Amino acid sequence: MKTIYEILRAKRDGQELASEEIAALVSGVVSGDVADYQAAAFLMAAVINGLSTAEAAALTEAMRDSGEIWDLSEFAPVVDKHSTGGVGDKVTLVLAPLVAAAGARVAMMSGRGLGHTGGTLDKLAAIPGFRTDLDLPRVRETLRKVGAALFAQTDAVAPADRILYALRDVTGTVESLALITASILSKKLASGTNGIVFDVKTGNGAFMKTVEESRALGYSLVQTTRAAGRQATGWITDMSRPLGRAVGNALEAEEAIRVLRGEGPERVREVSVALGVEMLGFADPDLLEVAARQKLEDAFSSGKAARVFEKLIEAQGGDPRVVEDPSRLPQPKQRIPARAPHSGVVRSISTEQMGFLSIDIGCGRRRREDTIDPAAGFLVEKTVGDRVEEGEPLAILCLGERPAPRPGVERELAALFEIGPEPVTPSALLIERL
Ligand code: URA
Repeated sequence: MKTIYEILRAKRDGQELASEEIAALVSGVVSGDVADYQAAAFLMAAVINGLSTAEAAALTEAMRDSGEIWDLSEFAPVVDKHSTGGVGDKVTLVLAPLVAAAGARVAMMSGRGLGHTGGTLDKLAAIPGFRTDLDLPRVRETLRKVGAALFAQTDAVAPADRILYALRDVTGTVESLALITASILSKKLASGTNGIVFDVKTGNGAFMKTVEESRALGYSLVQTTRAAGRQATGWITDMSRPLGRAVGNALEAEEAIRVLRGEGPERVREVSVALGVEMLGFADPDLLEVAARQKLEDAFSSGKAARVFEKLIEAQGGDPRVVEDPSRLPQPKQRIPARAPHSGVVRSISTEQMGFLSIDIGCGRRRREDTIDPAAGFLVEKTVGDRVEEGEPLAILCLGERPAPRPGVERELAALFEIGPEPVTPSALLIERL
C-alpha cells in the first residue's frame, strides 16, 4: 500500500488511484492523520487531472462510510429526491407527502441553501414548531407513522464531506463534477435510501447555466449512484425563472400547501408529478408510467396528499392546521408592488440575482450565523412570455419583521425583469430525462 505522499504523487502524475488508496486518504482526513494541506493537494490534483468513474465511486463510498450509516432496510424500498438548487424550488414539500400518499416510503435528507438558492430546511422551519433535527429513531418513527420523513443532514453523517467541502471552498476546488458528485452522494447514500431521483436545474437561476453542463452533472450523479448499488434517474428542469409564484420561506410553504390542495401553480405540480413518477417506479419496477401518474393524480384529487402533509407536520412537531389555514404561517407585514417601468413582454428574469436579492431581505444567509426572516419574500406576478402594461406589478416585495435593507428594493426587483417589444417563447419546464 502506498504512503499518503506516494498517493498524492500518483494523482499528480495522472495515475488512477485504487479504491483502497482513496479510502486511506479519506479516513486519514477524518482522523487527522492526513493534514489539511495534503487533502488540499489531493483536491487540486483531482480537479486538474479529473477522477475516473471508478475513482469517483470509490471517493463517494469512502466519504459515505466516514460517519454514521443509517439503516432504513425495515422500510425498504425507501425513495429520495435531490435537487441541485434553484429559486422558488419548494418541490420537496409537495413531493414527500405526494409520493407517500401514492404508496411509497420517502426519506429525504435536506441541506441549507447554498449561494443564491433557498434551503428546504428553512422552508420547513417556516411552519411553526416544525423540527428537522431528527435522529435515526425519530426518522424511523416518522416513517412508520406517516410513510415520509424530512430531516437535516447531521454532523455525524459523512463528516469527511464537511472537512473536504470547507477546504474546497477556500482552495478553488469546488467546480469539479466528480467532487460535487461525491459530496452530494456521500450524504444521500449514508441516509439509507434505495433510489434517488435527481432534479438537475438548468438556466440563469441554476448553478449549471447550460443544458450541456447540467447533463454532465446529471449523468455523473445518476451513474455514480448506480455504481454504489442504488437506483437512480433524473430530469433536467428549467430554472431560467423562479419555480412557481412564491420565493421566500413561508410564502413557499404556503404555495406547496396550495399545490397539494390542487390550487397551486401548474409548473410546481408538473415537476412534482414527473419526479414522483420516477420515485414510484423505484418502489415498484413493474408500475407503468401511466399508472404511476394516475396514482399521483388520485393522491392530489382525493385530498390524501394534503392529509399526509398534515400528518407529517404533526409527527415532526409542527402545527398541522397550516394545511387547512395557511394564514397561520408567518405573514408579511408589508407588501410593496414592483411595477413595470414600461409596457411590453417579459423576455427574461435574472433569476440568480432574484435569489441574491431574496437573501438581502431575510430569506437566506450570507454567513452561517445569520438569521432568517420567515415571512420575507417575493410573489412573482408576471413571468417570461407574459404581456405587462406600464405601472402593473411585475412582482410583490413582501417584508417580514425586518425593514427593507435599503430604499428602493422594489425598483431593484422590477429591474430583474427584462421587458421588450417582441413576444418570446418560454423554455420548456421538463427539458430532458436523464
Ligand atoms: N452541494 C453539495 O452538497 N456539495 C457540492 O459540492 C455542491 C453542492
